[in-house]
Amino acid sequence: LPEYKAALVGASGVGKSALAIQLNYQCFVEDHDPTIQDSYWKEVALSPGGCVLNVLDTAGQPVHRALRDQCLAISDGVLGVFALDRPDSLAQLRQMRATWDPCCTRPLVLVGNKCDLASTSKEAHTAAAALAESWGTPFVVTSAKTGQGVEEAFALLIQAIQRD
Ligand code: GDP
Ligand code: MG
Repeated sequence: LPEYKAALVGASGVGKSALAIQLNYQCFVEDHDPTIQDSYWKEVALSPGGCVLNVLDTAGQPVHRALRDQCLAISDGVLGVFALDRPDSLAQLRQMRATWDPCCTRPLVLVGNKCDLASTSKEAHTAAAALAESWGTPFVVTSAKTGQGVEEAFALLIQAIQRD
């Protein structure tokens, strides 16, 4: 089976680890250590014939930038995550992408997480849709809590990697 490396990148607290754990174990964690950088392997049926997905969960704090850059360097594609209740996290993701991929050429899926919350911001949603369009990337709304959109986000990334 083909193996793809997918890095989860975004500000601290947006739900990167929760998304990785939801994909791999179909459960939701309330309190994952924010500093842990981890890696998960799973055979998934998210593309025709299946593939092995290696999910690289990175730490979001600026102090972990060097480690994150290493992860990005070896990844085939990126899930760029922000939280729908935190418009600032979309701005942070945009700044991060400018540092790791200034030409916007690497496979990316923009992920607006925490859609289950009542406090999601309509402006963040609209701004993300516009940003994804300008980047030419898919935009998926997810909840690591309910599982909504999680498989779809990874499936779209695999498609983007296979087209690359
Ligand atoms: P990370 O720093 O990006 O890895 O974020 P975490 O995965 O550690 O999540 C940060 C906090 O947000 C934790 O308390 C999670 O339980 C919570 N969280 C993550 N995803 C969701 C989600 O989709 N919905 C809700 N309601 N909470 C979430
Ligand atoms: Mg984390």
